[in-house]
Amino acid sequence: YLASVLENVRTKHGNEPEFVQTVEEVFSSIEPVIEKHPEYEKVDLLGRMVEPERMFTFRVVWCDDNGQWHTNRGWRCQFNGAIGPYKGGLRFQKNVYEGIIKFLGFEQTFKNSLTGLPIGGAKGGSDFDPAGKSDAEVMRFCQSFMTALYRYIGPDVDVPAGDMGVGGREIGYLFGQYRRLKGAWENGVLTGKGLSYGGSLIRPEATGYGAVYYLQEVLKHEGDTIEGKRIALSGYGNVAWGIMKKAAELGAKVTYMSGPDGYVHDPDGINTEEKLNFILEMRAKDPMHCKPYADRFGCEFVAGAKHWGAKDVDVNMPSAMQNDVRMDSAEKIAASGVKYYIEVANMPTTNDALNFLRAQKHMIVAPSKAVNAGGVGVSALEMAQNSERLVWTAEEVDAQLHKMMKTIHQVSAEAAEEYGLGYDLVAGANIAGFKKVAEAMMAQGCF
Ligand code: GLU
Repeated sequence: YLASVLENVRTKHGNEPEFVQTVEEVFSSIEPVIEKHPEYEKVDLLGRMVEPERMFTFRVVWCDDNGQWHTNRGWRCQFNGAIGPYKGGLRFQKNVYEGIIKFLGFEQTFKNSLTGLPIGGAKGGSDFDPAGKSDAEVMRFCQSFMTALYRYIGPDVDVPAGDMGVGGREIGYLFGQYRRLKGAWENGVLTGKGLSYGGSLIRPEATGYGAVYYLQEVLKHEGDTIEGKRIALSGYGNVAWGIMKKAAELGAKVTYMSGPDGYVHDPDGINTEEKLNFILEMRAKDPMHCKPYADRFGCEFVAGAKHWGAKDVDVNMPSAMQNDVRMDSAEKIAASGVKYYIEVANMPTTNDALNFLRAQKHMIVAPSKAVNAGGVGVSALEMAQNSERLVWTAEEVDAQLHKMMKTIHQVSAEAAEEYGLGYDLVAGANIAGFKKVAEAMMAQGCF
């Protein structure tokens, strides 16, 4: 049954390779669960799971600062609402199309399930390229985007947030337009908001902090600790910044950072206030961020290359974007002898590279849908605060996030154990995430 659903996805969605890739990845782990539940075939549970409940496509028209009008396309994919209101970010990036939105929405469904909180899976975005746009242009774009989207979302219906290209500024403009159109205070409709209008403390840091908390659990399992660990990462967005901050706080340090222009090696670690603030500044200004960092802090910069083969690190954390690590990089990572490969960005590893790394006896591989779940997890805590019209302290949110990441690691490890797979965090996360969604769908009948 599983093989036939997968074959159908391959034939039907050949033009959406990222979507096919994520379905293949999840399905590669859940076979033993399907075997235990022959009743799933009769109700076509898997066939329903790979079909979004609905997906909206809309036109987004906006005017640039010179009076020229532009037309973009926007999407919202409400993938699976079995365990809660649809929840997931919006990505604004030139190369966004249906296949990217669907892969992210599918992945989000299982990630959100792992958080243990009532949130379904969704994703949205646009092929709008935010690079080089003025604040006023971004505002007009966001207003137009929300004018098309607002009728499909709501605090109990579908709650978007940020993703690549969508940060606090964009969420502010999007929320402003939603409020203007609805004429009601429904601030639980978006997460990642500013603190002054219902945002949660620790939300900007949550994905990175959560990833480091998860890493701590893995290290604990191996009888190791985080102190003194050297981390190599790709990416310099919100997530990478959060990792740097939390790693520094816990006595570890990020010593390699890769970006589109090359990589930088800072053996002292990106761990001072000054360096972290520089990262924040750079991220708003220039995607070619590694060279400026190396120039400013006087460290080694290697143009046009990635750091993946580096031996003088303890943990690799790909935190940039999908399919950042392919087979050639995976071979270098395996040869470097570095034990921990902790995925952070959504699907940062191609499936062949991921399977290759998982097969290395000396390595431990953790999947992004578990490692980065703290971001959407704290989004769910933001929704909870908005519903009760209260504000939690940073300590309260951080403590809940920490607990959540411990639980995600634990349920993943237990799920793998239950099916005789040993300490397989990739399979464990897929199984644990899948089981809850499957159970909820079975309970709710067929539609
Ligand atoms: N875009 C983030 C993710 O990939 C966060 C989504 C959210 O907070 O809803 O999980």
